[in-house]
Amino acid sequence: MPELPEVETVRDGLARHVVGARVGEVEVLRDYSVRHHDGGPSSFAGAIEGATLTAAVRRGKYLWLPVSPGTALLAHLGMSGQLLVRDGRDPWVHPHLRVRLHLSGAPTGASALDFVDQRTFGHLAVVALVPTPDDAAGGRGTDAPLVPGPVAHIARDLLDPQVASGTPGRSALIAAVRRRRTGIKRALLDQSLVSGVGNIYADEALWRARLHYARATDALRPVEVARVLDAAEEVMREALAVGGTSFDALYVNVNGESGYFARGLAAYGREGEPCPRCGTPIARATFMNRSAHWCPRCQPRPRGANARW
Ligand SMILES: [Zn+2]
Repeated sequence: MPELPEVETVRDGLARHVVGARVGEVEVLRDYSVRHHDGGPSSFAGAIEGATLTAAVRRGKYLWLPVSPGTALLAHLGMSGQLLVRDGRDPWVHPHLRVRLHLSGAPTGASALDFVDQRTFGHLAVVALVPTPDDAAGGRGTDAPLVPGPVAHIARDLLDPQVASGTPGRSALIAAVRRRRTGIKRALLDQSLVSGVGNIYADEALWRARLHYARATDALRPVEVARVLDAAEEVMREALAVGGTSFDALYVNVNGESGYFARGLAAYGREGEPCPRCGTPIARATFMNRSAHWCPRCQPRPRGANARW
């Protein structure tokens, strides 16, 4: 599944290769891929044919390309979705191509934007943009205080300038985490609090911040919450730096993969291996139908009011 840094890599690639392009013919090869568009495939195509893609914006794992002051092409990649910029000189068609937008006037000469999705959990839709509740920019990649209606309930993510470290937005997020009565890992995974922190990033961030996953949010000091949010942001920025070339690799090689899993993880997936900091074997427990990994020495198990499982 694409993690947030990979979706940001896609957003950055779209900003460079398709923003400014005009949409020509739209081919919907699999109706299911536009199932969340009101009106069906022909309405979907009609809503963007002739429009210009004016920005590439992301909040959490949602991407959108505004096509008018009030509407945007919204994309969610799901488990296996990809947005691939195609060069007209290469006639190869991906076997899992679901939707193709023919383009003209793209800044780097792209001839089409392909939505490819093997498992079809992802989707595209043309949706209305609504004002953000906080009047701030809708996400990374825009100054407009607008967000697609279906994304309005998704919290900002840690790569969003509005909640960058040191901003009032980050202070508000720290306070919001401490108002919850839950465990810190549950809070990190709560998309209504902060979006885009998946299981891997949560475990790595908690290891870096030396906090056990069951530490009670309402018993953490502000500096401890700040530390784990900073760590989560840092891990994602490192993954982004590693994966930053993958979109351009996709441009020529559609089978390119993100470098994320090539980078070293300290805790996630390392049960029984020595903690890189202290050498204690990393522990693992079942957590929310997935797993939690931690160092029993660096991240001691909380007790009493300090614990919320
Ligand atoms: Zn350790």
